Amino acid sequence: MQNIDNIYINGEFVTPHGEERFELFNPATEEVIGTVRLADEVDAERAIAAAKAAFTGWSRTTKDERIAVLKRMHKAVAAREDALLEAIVTEYGAPQSRGRWMAQYPADVIAQAIETLEEFEFVEQAGSAQVIMTPVGVAGLITPWNSDAGFICNKLATAMAAGCTAVIKPSEMSAMQTQIVTEALHEANIPAGVFNIITGRGEVVGDVINRHPDIAKISFTGSTAVGKHIVESSAASLKRVTLELGGKSPTVILDDADIEKAVPLALAAGFMNSGQACIAGTRILVPRSRQAEFEQAFAHAVGQVQSGDPRDDKTEIGPMVSRKQWQRVQDYIRLGTEEGAKLLVGGEGRPAGMAQGWGVKPTVFVGHNQMRIAREEIFGPVLVMIPYEDDADALAIANDTNYGLNAMVLGGNTERAVRIAQQIESGRVMVNTLAHEPKAPFGGVKQSGLGREMGKWGMQAYLEAKTVVVG
Ligand code: NAD
Repeated sequence: MQNIDNIYINGEFVTPHGEERFELFNPATEEVIGTVRLADEVDAERAIAAAKAAFTGWSRTTKDERIAVLKRMHKAVAAREDALLEAIVTEYGAPQSRGRWMAQYPADVIAQAIETLEEFEFVEQAGSAQVIMTPVGVAGLITPWNSDAGFICNKLATAMAAGCTAVIKPSEMSAMQTQIVTEALHEANIPAGVFNIITGRGEVVGDVINRHPDIAKISFTGSTAVGKHIVESSAASLKRVTLELGGKSPTVILDDADIEKAVPLALAAGFMNSGQACIAGTRILVPRSRQAEFEQAFAHAVGQVQSGDPRDDKTEIGPMVSRKQWQRVQDYIRLGTEEGAKLLVGGEGRPAGMAQGWGVKPTVFVGHNQMRIAREEIFGPVLVMIPYEDDADALAIANDTNYGLNAMVLGGNTERAVRIAQQIESGRVMVNTLAHEPKAPFGGVKQSGLGREMGKWGMQAYLEAKTVVVG
């Protein structure tokens, strides 16, 4: 049992004013493995005051001074890769291979922020005016459970690179990972108040951040419903808002695609992070002329995917993060059948050989784009294959969604695939690859979000242009 009894305010680990204890679970066994004492409104006020007090000093630091601090952060976070991996597998249930990537990503993303800062021009000339990119103020950073350390480090490193100070509210469900990151950041000897971490409930601590007049900007990653609430509740103080929300991403397999290459890529996109990924390719569009062939290939390939114990090297899909998430996935699988979708593989219940834990059978339906399983984000390894008539129909289906975060196009002719990709309404489209490009902007259109993270676009989101005209 690990009991986490502190939050981090003004350069110190402190006991929260809040007294609620929240239980932490191992999703593979359903056992309680720890507790976290949650911050409350008083703690949130203190953290915001500390970040406000630190802002003047930090916003006036030079590029070189910020780079030196970010390099210390990078070193301290990189040194905790193994501890993070252990927490990610135990507390989140990620399979080892995915967990290793998730444990390395937090340090990688700090390195990327350093690179962006090194190249960033804070001052530009526009005619007779000097345009100075100025840090926006105290940033409220609100993050989800599905890549805790990665989201904290990305948002914090970018905010600090821009000259902002921060109050971070991570998910209460990933407190062990947060604790490791906090210890690393403390060791990096960052000036007091520049970052503050207050693990607490969204409707308690989160809502103080949403409404507080001393928070100038919110960067949020999480569900579309909470994202809309943040826009509403932050409107009174006209906060700058960056939202990274949900998705229902299409994987468009063109009629000239090589089935041997397309099926593994489509499944890797769909089952990424055990299906608990905002960018998961959960709608697989296949040409009707080749439907039977693809049905057979997907059924066979999914039959080989091992779901269950995250500590087994062969496991590709780990358990869902919580009982609630497991139940939600089960409900959608039942709904798919009730809606008349054809169950190609998978179904309700735990995978064979798994008596306990929140494991799910990797599931693929064949259906159409108006079904709820094709329109709503499930956040589990449940995919729907949708047959289409021709390229125009494929595009119409791909774009007929409230979301627009990610998409993939798979085809034998790259030029043709790129032409299709250009017509998909989405913040990002991958053509014949799943490789992430960290230098490029990341974010969604439509209800998948607002604004962009990563690279210079991510930095600009923490800055405002100040025009100085000298007569
Ligand atoms: P969530 O929206 O329930 O929670 C995200 C964070 O918001 C948590 O820290 C939560 O405590 C907090 N929160 C809840 N209510 C709040 C409120 N009223 N005010 C302020 N904060 C509040 O999402 P989740 O279940 O933790 O994560 C899953 C969701 O995140 C999925 O919808 C997924 O698509 C999305 N997501 C998006 C991206 C992206 O980059 N676009 C990445 C990962 C996850």
